[in-house]
Order: sequence, then C-alpha cells, then structure tokens
Amino acid sequence: MSLPDNVTTHEDFPVPETMKAWVLGDPGELTLADKPVPAPGKAEVLVRIDAVAICATDLEIIHHGPPAMIQGGDPFNKNFTPGHEYMGTVVALGPGVDEYRIGERVTVEIHAGCGQCKRCRQGMYTSCHNYGKNYGDVDKGHRANGFTTDGGFAEYAVNNINTLIHVDDGMTDEEATLVVTAGTAMYGLTELGGLVAGESVVVSGPGPIGLLGAAVAKALGAQPVILTGTRDNRLEIGRQLGADHVINVRNENVVEKVRELTGGKGVDYVVECSGAPQAVNEAAQMLNRGGKICLAAFPGSAPEVDVAYLVRNNIYLYGIRGEGKTATHRAEAFMRQKRFDASLIHTHTFDMEDLAEALRYAKDRVEDAIKVVVKNKHAAARQMAAE
Ligand SMILES: [Zn+2]
Ligand SMILES: [Zn+2]
Repeated sequence: MSLPDNVTTHEDFPVPETMKAWVLGDPGELTLADKPVPAPGKAEVLVRIDAVAICATDLEIIHHGPPAMIQGGDPFNKNFTPGHEYMGTVVALGPGVDEYRIGERVTVEIHAGCGQCKRCRQGMYTSCHNYGKNYGDVDKGHRANGFTTDGGFAEYAVNNINTLIHVDDGMTDEEATLVVTAGTAMYGLTELGGLVAGESVVVSGPGPIGLLGAAVAKALGAQPVILTGTRDNRLEIGRQLGADHVINVRNENVVEKVRELTGGKGVDYVVECSGAPQAVNEAAQMLNRGGKICLAAFPGSAPEVDVAYLVRNNIYLYGIRGEGKTATHRAEAFMRQKRFDASLIHTHTFDMEDLAEALRYAKDRVEDAIKVVVKNKHAAARQMAAE
C-alpha cells in the first residue's frame, strides 16, 4: 500500500512502502521486522527517523510493560515498536498541514493528547484523560509514541504537528534527541512555579533528567543550584552543566550539607529525580517552610513518607508526567542559545541494527553510559557526506 492521495510528498524524500522496525515480543524480546510505513492523517506528518535516544523508561517498557499501554493492556506480542526520544526529517505531510515543510529537521515530544479533554485544554496533555484510547472502534485522537502508539526504534513514524519542534542546523542529531529530556526537566520547574531566578534549587539524582534539570534550573537563573547523587563522574558533568555545588550522598550527610550551603535556611525547591526510598523525606528536610518538591522519578517500591512533617511545614508535592505545557519548546530555545551543553550527557552512539547492544549499554551503564543514541543508516551516511 502506498500513501493516500491526500498526503503530500516530495521527490527528494521518497517514501518506501515498507520499513524496518523493532517489534516487542515477550518481555525483553525485540526482533527487527518489516512493517508498512504509516500514513499521516489530518494534522500529522511522517517523520523519517534519524536518531533515537534510549531512555530508562524504554527499558521498563521492554522488560516489564508499563507505562506503555497498547490496546488497553500490556505491550507484549502486539506488533508494537517502542522508542520515544527521537528526531528526524519531515518527509510527508498529512492533509492540510502547512505548519512544517518537507525536508525540515524536527525533534519530537512524546504525547499528543486527545485535544478535547479537560487536561488537554489546560495544556496538560501528558495527563490526557483519554490516554491510550486509540484502538479498535475507539479513536479519541490520543497518541503517545512509544507508549500507546508505535515509536521510534524504526525508520519512520507518524507524529501530530503539536509534538514537533523545529531543530536548528547548529544542533547535531544526537543533541536534538535530548530536547525532550530537557523539556521534562523544564516541565517540572514550570509546575514548581517557573520563575526560579534567585531562588535555590536542589536536584537529587544525576540521571539524564536530573543532569539537565540542574542545567535548566541554572539557565532559569536559580541560585544556588545543588546537585546530589552517588557517582562522582556524573556529579562532575552536572557541575559543567551549571550546578553551583555537588554533594556525593555517600560521603556527606546531604541534608546537613544543603542546610550549610544555604545559611541554615534550606532551599526553595527540590526536583527529585533519584527515586530513592528516602528521597521524599530527605527532600522535605532540605526545604525551607512552604517549599516545593517536584517528583520526576519512579521509585521501585512504595516508600514511607512522613506526611505530618509535610503538613507542619506547608510543603507542596508535585508529581509530573512527561513534558507537558509545551516545555520542550522552551527547552529547545535554551539549547539553541547554547545556554547549556546537553551533549555532555550523550556518551555512546550505535547503529539502529545494533539496538540490542545499545540497550545493554544503557541498562548496565557499560563504560559509564548515560545517554545512548541509535542512528538509522541514512542519517549516518548523510553525516559522513557532510564531513
Ligand atoms: Zn524518555
Ligand atoms: Zn486529552
């Protein structure tokens, strides 16, 4: 089947009928398969995927299932393609699309909400009330690529225009895959109030979101920005990204140290990206009264929380999901202005064919891997031609 007549293409970007795509079978089992290239509908484009970053959530989905939800249930043996942090080139336009042009480089957000529920209308499309209702006879228009619809470990993917972000030529493919990670950190800081200039922030957990969280907080003018974690090499990268102070929690009492660095007062905000069992209680202890905690990590078990302490001290807790309120656009603006160098967290690149090895590097943190990127051959070939 070729693309329908109402889809616009261009001879410089020929679209084949089939593509290679990784498909999830049983838990942990991915195979490279042939799939039809999907056709963009109204308000959608077809993206030729050039590069994809691997996220810890991809590993969760591939091995355990949630938070992916395919046809109302777990994602196994449903011909589902995971992968969500991708960038590429627009190669076909759905009917009526004039917001993007063929040949334009874009990176993508994950969530296109339904656009009609209460939360979507508030800009909280990552909390869409019609999450995953896009199969069988039900089509609410919701897409979350790599979660509830096919994702980026493939050659092509359909995206709603609301999920696209233009990529400047000054940004590499690898860096462009990190925009959505910075966007998640930006969303967290947005929910905490957004204007953090001159206010103090602790970011706990130097994973990709935490590291870029320190960078975004600094770019927003926070002072001081304190990054906490257990790995010195990652803390050092956090310093290069903008953290004013770093604390290795293995060597120091983190609460005492934060209080010391803030003249005994404690900080205004904590962005919790570690998922450690005591993280919420420690975050509360680091805050001044009336402070706010943003929760961006998934703890493995249900932690015990000292609720009375939170109440006594008027502490606010915000859970965030993904990258809502077009935070990715603001993150991209910082990256385009070189306000921080997100590429510091990109450590490895593999060919798309070597996805299994790339996933192993990400999962086992081989060679201190932080962000592992896989590239399709066409993108690698173009880059070589350019060099
Ligand atoms: Zn992710
Ligand atoms: Zn919605």
